Amino acid sequence: MTIPNTEIRDMFDQVADLLELKGENPFRVRAYREAARVISGFSEQVEKLVKGGGDLTAYRGIGKDLAGKIQEIVETGSLKQLEELKAQIPESLLELLQIPELGPKKIAALHKELGVKTLADLKQAVEAGRVSTLKGFGKKSEQKILESIGRTKKAGGKRMLISDVEPYATALEQYLKDQPGVKQVAVAGSYRRGKETIGDLDILATCGEGDEEQVMDAFVRFEDARDTIAHGKTKSSVRLRSGLQVDLRIVPEESYGAALHYFTGSKAHNIAVRKLGIDRKYKINEYGVHDGENRIAGRTEEDVYAAVGLAFIEPELRENMGEIEAAQENRQPGLITLNEIRGDLHAHTSRTDGRNTLLEMAEAARDLGYEYLAITDHSQKVAMAGGMTEKDLREHMQRIDAVNEQVEGITLLKGIECDILAEGTLDLPDTVLKDLDLVICSVHYYQRLSREDQIKRVLRAMDSPYCQILGHPTARLINTREPIDIDLEKIIEAARERGVVLELNAQPDRLDLPHNYCKMAAELGVKIALNTDSHSIEGLKRMKGGVTEARRGWLTKADVINTRPLGDMLAMLRKR
Ligand SMILES: [Zn+2]
Ligand SMILES: [Zn+2]
Repeated sequence: MTIPNTEIRDMFDQVADLLELKGENPFRVRAYREAARVISGFSEQVEKLVKGGGDLTAYRGIGKDLAGKIQEIVETGSLKQLEELKAQIPESLLELLQIPELGPKKIAALHKELGVKTLADLKQAVEAGRVSTLKGFGKKSEQKILESIGRTKKAGGKRMLISDVEPYATALEQYLKDQPGVKQVAVAGSYRRGKETIGDLDILATCGEGDEEQVMDAFVRFEDARDTIAHGKTKSSVRLRSGLQVDLRIVPEESYGAALHYFTGSKAHNIAVRKLGIDRKYKINEYGVHDGENRIAGRTEEDVYAAVGLAFIEPELRENMGEIEAAQENRQPGLITLNEIRGDLHAHTSRTDGRNTLLEMAEAARDLGYEYLAITDHSQKVAMAGGMTEKDLREHMQRIDAVNEQVEGITLLKGIECDILAEGTLDLPDTVLKDLDLVICSVHYYQRLSREDQIKRVLRAMDSPYCQILGHPTARLINTREPIDIDLEKIIEAARERGVVLELNAQPDRLDLPHNYCKMAAELGVKIALNTDSHSIEGLKRMKGGVTEARRGWLTKADVINTRPLGDMLAMLRKR
């Protein structure tokens, strides 16, 4: 295992924060801050120094005690003292550190004087005017804290949706590429792996020798940056106005692939790859793959993987969930791509709760290059959204026919998103369902049923021969609503038995079926419909996020029905 200097520095900074939160002796706190500062100024790798038997106490600011702790970190990868402190201090208190106006000292005061333990407590205290009564706080800082809480709730407090992070990632990448001297730029981290939510952005870059400083200066001047958290020659951090933290690291070109691999993660994946290195007596870190003193790979990720006998592994798969074994045996999935999608099977129009008309949706889907678009407005139970009765639906079907005659180059399918009622019956009679091209059945109400009742209900709906696609199977809304309590393994098994297709709903806060279950479904031969569930023409463009989730779920073109031409796709739907 390799520990970069920055990680050791961060650990000491955290210790200092936590000690300060506990109200410990300021001299002790300062000693850890000083150690962090000294370590971040090291030009050599601390780990190398320690392992080479170097004497750390020769450095100003590092006494015997700290030297011992550095040794502990290098040897074990963690620091017992830090873990113990974390266990003692409520995690919610650490959240308060995200408020730029609050340092550990002020948080300790808020905790001690006002009993503030969470962001919610803090908000209450500010709104009640209690914070400004404390020493060191004024009316002005109260106002600033309140604004920061607002931002934190949107961003840092909870991880941001990847779709909300994407515009920043794209803009920063382009901005950095445009800087003189910059050669390569990549966003690494969980963003590159396509995770549903993102904590912060990790960007790597290479540049010409001597250009580092001006690149870093440009980075901290990025127009959307609110605060500079750190400004160094090889690493800088800023916080954007949205609250998102962005780290930029400049790495040597010969280490770019190794660093990209290291900072893309996941941790579990990296550990597994490093183990393969150890088997070959190689050492792998963010600088490269080393055979003794020689760097044998590191310029590209492909080289890093090849050094340990692996084919390149797509970032979305790097979770140590079987991808290493697959790469060893050359049986990696050919992951689905956006341009393989031929149509969208879940869309709403202004007839129910969509914003655009049938015609507008048809033209927009055609302009995306699609062959078909299923119109699946809501059924009567979803009255709030203008859900349709059988009679309404028959009229809607006629209008769909009319638009099909009017618009060339795309076929609208007559569908419905039929609500699954409390007992598992469907919201519209078979007499009309049988006349549709496609029926999606979804849970919208009664989300709090017991696990047993919920399973019974959904299975009953799936028993209907008209249930062809199960829409957003867990009904989760990321960051705002828990999934329904249901046994997805059972649902997947039932889908296999009945020939029901499961939806992967691409709405940014749904991404439902979640990727791990997509993988399970595909392994059992259950097909997936990758749909945007769009309520507007802009919504149709959200397919990309769904494709990312599908890739995290190991899905290939063959697993997803709407990669097929219209006739083949329809033939894959359950016969009724
Ligand atoms: Zn729905
Ligand atoms: Zn819908």
